[in-house]
Amino acid sequence: MQIDSFFAARNSRMKASEIRELLKLLDQPDVISFAGGIPDPALFPAEKFRDAMADALSDQNQGLSLQYSTSEGYPPLREWLAQRMTQLGVPCGADNILITSGSQQALDYLGKLFLSPNDTALVGWPTYLGALGAFNAYEPRFDRLDPMGNRAAADVQADAAAAGGKVKFSYLSPDFANPTGITLSLQERQQVLAQAEALDCMVIEDAAYQSLRYEGEEIPPILSLELTEKGDLDQCRTIYCGSFSKTLSPGLRIGWVCAARPVIDQLVLLKQAGDLHTATLNQMAVAHVAADGFEDHTRLLCAHYKARRDRMLAALDQHMPKGVEWTRPEGGMFVWMTLPKGMDGADLLAAALRDEKVAFVPGGAFYPDDDGRNTLRLNFSSPNQAQIDEGIKRLGRVLRAAMS
Ligand code: PMP
Repeated sequence: MQIDSFFAARNSRMKASEIRELLKLLDQPDVISFAGGIPDPALFPAEKFRDAMADALSDQNQGLSLQYSTSEGYPPLREWLAQRMTQLGVPCGADNILITSGSQQALDYLGKLFLSPNDTALVGWPTYLGALGAFNAYEPRFDRLDPMGNRAAADVQADAAAAGGKVKFSYLSPDFANPTGITLSLQERQQVLAQAEALDCMVIEDAAYQSLRYEGEEIPPILSLELTEKGDLDQCRTIYCGSFSKTLSPGLRIGWVCAARPVIDQLVLLKQAGDLHTATLNQMAVAHVAADGFEDHTRLLCAHYKARRDRMLAALDQHMPKGVEWTRPEGGMFVWMTLPKGMDGADLLAAALRDEKVAFVPGGAFYPDDDGRNTLRLNFSSPNQAQIDEGIKRLGRVLRAAMS
């Protein structure tokens, strides 16, 4: 019996990556890794979560926290998020908010909601690998999101039609994107919206890193710009996906969607069919901790991560050979590096692990096609400052050896 002969066709695009195999070597204690994309666990508000969990499990609350609950999410958390969205320039009510099991689940459900096989999703080149994974299950075609480019909307739609579908959405992360660290300017956000109007497609705004800004002015979310223009959230094509993973805890798996009610209502049906609802105990704990000093906690996180970013940028200035370029992110967790043409990030990772015990993610993984082999992603939120110094020094040696 060949078990994989029973798998539905859509599974053929869901592959384990070779890079994951290489990254298993990271378990060795002497490897300095810039490969992760995770928060520093020392900064989790664990004490606050202990109190919040104890409260949620008290005699008074256990009937709620341990019971089934509604698919839309825990009402006080939805209320808190409606207020938070209002502060971010998106005045809305709790009925514009759906709680999801991490924003990753929102990406999965949005793929399920919008993509028929052969429909087109416009994505950055590169883009978040997990978005490609989530959308891939629905068998789309990916095309380049290039709102500043010269391709007319009619041509983009014509290509989508030739592939057997329509452009359904643009997906992007406008603040400190994973993997590039790049932030879109106000004007670029407006161009994303204008292009979506011209294409008549939805916009998925992935705001996973939005609270982690270390310098510069906050730029309003794309949803806020659209709402200002249209005056009615239910007429907006932008769907905002938020997450507590980068601020309070990724392990609790709490994210949210803020969007027009017709989108929320349909997502609620998918949520009912998918997992009924997000874990109530976790929603209660996050609601408690968020209400008790979300801003203070993110300020603390930003101070820590800013110092690490500064250290990484300083070390890169000091140790990188000529011909290597990198981004200077205003927030988030990643620096994106571009090597001279012809170099290969995956080959370099093998050499880096073998010769210098330093790791990163080869950038090719973040492209829907074979592009970007001469790029790589460096994370600065996990390693400490001494590891950043030493690791970047090692990476400089690996690059010099590869370029000589
Ligand atoms: N979007 C982006 C851009 C991410 O980097 C991540 C996590 N790495 C997610 C979404 C998913 O996060 P979560 O499901 O933990 O909210």
